Amino acid sequence: MRKSPILMWFRRDLRLGDHEALTAACAAGRPVIPVFIHDELTESMGAAPKMRLGMSVEDLRKSLETKGSRLILRRGDALVVLRDLIKETGAGAVYWSRLYDPQNRARDTAVKAALKDDGVTADSYKGHVLFEPWTVETKTGGFYKVYTPMWKSVRSNEVPDTLPSPGDIPAPDTWPASDDIADWQMDAAMRRGADILKNHCTVGEAAAHDRLSSFIADRVSNYVRNRDLPGVDGTSHLSENLTYGEISPRKCWHAGWRALHDGKSDAEVFLKELVWREFAYHLAFHTPRIVSDNWKQDWDAFPWNTDERLAEVKAWKQGRTGIRFVDAAMREMYVTGTMHNRGRMIVASYLTKHMLCHWKIGLDWFADCLIDWDPCSNAMGWQWSAGSGPDATPYFRVFNPVTQLDKFDKDRTYVKKWIAEGTNTPSATALSYFDMIPSSWGMTAQDRYPDPVVPVDEGRKRALDAYQSRGF
Ligand code: FAD
Repeated sequence: MRKSPILMWFRRDLRLGDHEALTAACAAGRPVIPVFIHDELTESMGAAPKMRLGMSVEDLRKSLETKGSRLILRRGDALVVLRDLIKETGAGAVYWSRLYDPQNRARDTAVKAALKDDGVTADSYKGHVLFEPWTVETKTGGFYKVYTPMWKSVRSNEVPDTLPSPGDIPAPDTWPASDDIADWQMDAAMRRGADILKNHCTVGEAAAHDRLSSFIADRVSNYVRNRDLPGVDGTSHLSENLTYGEISPRKCWHAGWRALHDGKSDAEVFLKELVWREFAYHLAFHTPRIVSDNWKQDWDAFPWNTDERLAEVKAWKQGRTGIRFVDAAMREMYVTGTMHNRGRMIVASYLTKHMLCHWKIGLDWFADCLIDWDPCSNAMGWQWSAGSGPDATPYFRVFNPVTQLDKFDKDRTYVKKWIAEGTNTPSATALSYFDMIPSSWGMTAQDRYPDPVVPVDEGRKRALDAYQSRGF
């Protein structure tokens, strides 16, 4: 008699290589049934990340088929779907890779307990991080609330070698039925923007590996000089792939170390960035409130504007604040689904400081627009920018988006790439923004470029006055 199958439940680990859970499943000498579940957490995702997730699932499905396997797609509550599949297939175990944001953790904890009660093995594995959040501790035994000591503590920690893709994924005698991903319409909320955004996506495991290789070969040597320049292609762009697990952080880490040992000293800063990502999971694991509430609770009394209907908020979302750095970055995100890190810091500072709007407004808009949306990195980034987070930029550090532009986009490459108004020769990328936005926004490339909705000096003074009057 054949042994009972293992359900390999894929979530944000959509790859075959360096996959501990899949490797363990394949080594167990039992049939493996790969599964992806469109559950309520997938349902609640923003328009762009949901579309991008669908592309990643489809890529994994094809990769599994090259191994003689399949990806079974089901929609519904995760536990209900898993129990149905267990009944249909006689599976005796479910394996998955761990996630660290509070919503995924709550679901996984409940699923694990219920499956165990049912007498089914439920095993979770490391797959999304370099260091499990509970294995990294300060000298006094607590978790890290500041990044630099965490970096110092983990930089020389041993990171195990990557695992190869399984040569063979044992198939069951019969496959359970699967949905067709086209029926899920994961790009529906993108409406007319879907086709343009898809052109900016770099999808799947093979593409992610190529991306890492080209970054290490061509760009890591100048990473320190170029990573802050939004008009220069100076970073890895791997956040899009890391967020769906199309490449493992271990793979990126080892590539960075090898580059460092090959004399490319800037690779150390790349490694540091990977540890910022770890820090985000570390914080979300130890202080889950970071994704929804002010991490520093004394900010609860701060009179943020929370009204999404404010004209300023609309202008910010639509990339027409009249502040070129802000507008270029917001349009970059709308069209490509990503935004340069310098842009993220500038637009977040402008929203939370010049406009005194709640960081959650920005967090939610990013969650709707980013193809590299990650619940932990996004929350850390917003709270860092607003001043309410751990190890945050000081509240009185109000980025000046005009001088920042002079410093980081001297020749205005970035601004020209994204802003069409006021020029006779707009770039194709700047024009593509107008092909994507809803007509209800009433914007055309021929409009006059707007005056600032919140002038830079006035906004800065207002923010500093607000902080002072609240006793910060
Ligand atoms: P690289 O410079 O090549 O860095 C390599 C990798 O390190 C990245 O792919 C990423 O995984 C990680 N990394 C780099 N910087 C950070 C950082 N500050 N925090 C966490 N990880 C980092 N990143 C996301 O992946 N998803 C988000 O939803 C997200 N939201 C953000 C919101 C705000 C307000 C801010 C300020 C930052 C946010 N970031 C987010 C972090 C950062 O902007 C992106 O990770 C980075 O721009 C990705 O580009 P890259 O892959 O070319 O990075």
